[in-house]
Amino acid sequence: MKKVVKFGGSSLASADQFRKVGNIIHEDPYRRYVIPSAPGKRHSKDTKVTDLLYRCYDTVCAGRNYHEDLFAIKSRYQEIIRGLNLELDLSGEFDKMEQRFLDRAGRDYAASRGEYLNGMVLAAYLGYDFVDSAEVICFTEDGEFDAERTNRVLSARLMQSERAVVPGFYGAMPDGTIKTFSRGGSDITGAIVARAVQASIYENWTDVSGFLLTDPHIVKDPVVIRTITYKELRELSYMGASVLHDESIFPVRKAGIPINIRNTNAPDEPGTMIVKTTGVKSPYTITGIAGKKGFVAINIEKDRMNSEIGFGRKVLEAFEHFGISFEHMPSGIDTLSVFVSEESFAPQEQAVLAMINRNCQPDIITIDTDLALIAVVGRSMKDARGTAGRVFASLAHARINVRMIDQGSDEENIVIGVKNDDFESAIRAIYQIFVDARI
Ligand code: ASP
Repeated sequence: MKKVVKFGGSSLASADQFRKVGNIIHEDPYRRYVIPSAPGKRHSKDTKVTDLLYRCYDTVCAGRNYHEDLFAIKSRYQEIIRGLNLELDLSGEFDKMEQRFLDRAGRDYAASRGEYLNGMVLAAYLGYDFVDSAEVICFTEDGEFDAERTNRVLSARLMQSERAVVPGFYGAMPDGTIKTFSRGGSDITGAIVARAVQASIYENWTDVSGFLLTDPHIVKDPVVIRTITYKELRELSYMGASVLHDESIFPVRKAGIPINIRNTNAPDEPGTMIVKTTGVKSPYTITGIAGKKGFVAINIEKDRMNSEIGFGRKVLEAFEHFGISFEHMPSGIDTLSVFVSEESFAPQEQAVLAMINRNCQPDIITIDTDLALIAVVGRSMKDARGTAGRVFASLAHARINVRMIDQGSDEENIVIGVKNDDFESAIRAIYQIFVDARI
């Protein structure tokens, strides 16, 4: 059995955190492949090493004095090395890095050093092999991640290592130029490694005890979701919930490997299992609630719209033409609304409306602004009677006016449109009825 374990920046921010990580790894001999992030924040006012690296590199490029930033970066590693009583000397690596900065090796190179150096420290601490991701995580000449090539190269390489540390976040293009994923991308590396070694599980260790049923800024201490499917997770993350990098589920989903979100600071808690399919029912009928503010509805009315073939297409063409992605399109007999994000629509409002007028000759167009969308997601919903009834009863009791309703064809989510001002109370009302009251 092989387990792939990824540790986030806060899990590796200090020597104390490294010790917790070491205990977690040594406790289970199957935890053979380890993906570290760069050292993160030690406290809320601290700066992540990745941000220090970006700043230092930008300072070098601006021709200003970068020594203070460089010193801060080196100190973070030295503090960890000293705290762990390691024999490791990184001064050669620091010199090389400084020289490459002066040679303008690129912002991606600069940022990648956070994970690279942390990987070296962790490998030395654990007594594991160190595998430089530049040799095994492949990007194309255009800077696109090359999934299949990576899978081949990486699995062949890891076959030769019983236990290894593979730094997160970066890889290299065919000419050796370092390329990073987007921010938070060590999660993606972890998933790629899990696929390559055909791991039985991908453990993602962070500083929360799993994926919360809803946003803790809105509901105080929401319960942790114990089991969630990839599909439900996609729905919730699309609507703003975050714990994992969005892109990280694809490699493991394809290979059918579950992800377990765990807390380095509370290792006895089971965390959240993210799985492909499960017979485990969610205890509250719903699995999660997430949402976003800042949408607009463009409402279009035209007599006999129902018999005008191609009307919907012509409306959507106007949005497509201006590169605006639509979220929902509820319709009546002679009415149709398109929900889009305010941010993408506002700058092009009049151009889009003019095109709709030209294409479709509607009778009336009105616009509702300041709308929020809330997704209530749950695989158990389709077999449960009255889920929608409970959602809307809770909103009615909270005196919230529902502006839009949409249910996905898989019956795993209900999306509700409300005014921005009602957003928080709507989420609290739905949480209350399903979780607190458990009706
Ligand atoms: N260190 C990188 C970042 O801060 C990548 C990661 O932590 O996943 O975004």
